[in-house]
Amino acid sequence: MRVPRVAVPELAPEVELSGREAHHLVRVLRVEVGRRVRAFDGRGREAEGEVAWIEGGRVGLRLGEPMEAEVEPPVEVVLYVALLKGDKLADVVRAGSELGVSRFVPLVTERSVPREMGRAKLERLRRIAVEAAKQSGRAKAPEVTEPLALTELAPQGFGLVAHPYASTTMDAVDWPESGAVALASGPEGGFTEAEVEHLAGLGLVPVYLGPRILRAETAPLVLAAAAAAMRGF
Ligand code: SAH
Repeated sequence: MRVPRVAVPELAPEVELSGREAHHLVRVLRVEVGRRVRAFDGRGREAEGEVAWIEGGRVGLRLGEPMEAEVEPPVEVVLYVALLKGDKLADVVRAGSELGVSRFVPLVTERSVPREMGRAKLERLRRIAVEAAKQSGRAKAPEVTEPLALTELAPQGFGLVAHPYASTTMDAVDWPESGAVALASGPEGGFTEAEVEHLAGLGLVPVYLGPRILRAETAPLVLAAAAAAMRGF
């Protein structure tokens, strides 16, 4: 069960809520006394706690010590993205960093037009990752690794591979509540069927992202956004 997030005016040991926030907790989320919650003050601080009492339209929370809000995903979020033409990986790294990706792994795939990445380009992507991490208030910059051949990839844990011809839609994906997440998306020309099969054999579930073909720099960000939204990263 997910831990509900609750907006509180102040992170005190005891907080009383009424109005919208209390209504949402009791009527919409149907929390009961004893339910764990995560309270946040909207100014970058959070506290863990529990529901102490519920009375009419009011809810009492008992909260622990306030701490700085956690901005880093508690697990690795690895984005395997095919080498793309021009400067497109820069956009993927910039926005992917904002979305909480911990490691970008450029992939050499059968239909990737570029077959390698020069030192200067890799260094530039790393600088973009540092800059984006800083801008979005992350505690840690994501890593950008040297390109890897798709056949060398060894993903850990749960994963998805974006594939326009997959039958599983995003809403049918069974997201585990914890553990690492691996995400993969293909080059402008798409993955070959054999590549998708290989990735599926490694545990990445092929997933359909909708009836429109997304650009090769858009699809990886849709995957990262879905992971951030579904897993609360
Ligand atoms: N011409 C290619 C499309 C490649 S789009 C083809 O027909 O296969 C580039 C990459 O973005 C794909 O390899 C896939 O990983 C992802 N992608 C784009 N649109 C998608 C969609 N609607 N569903 C799932 N993945 C998609």
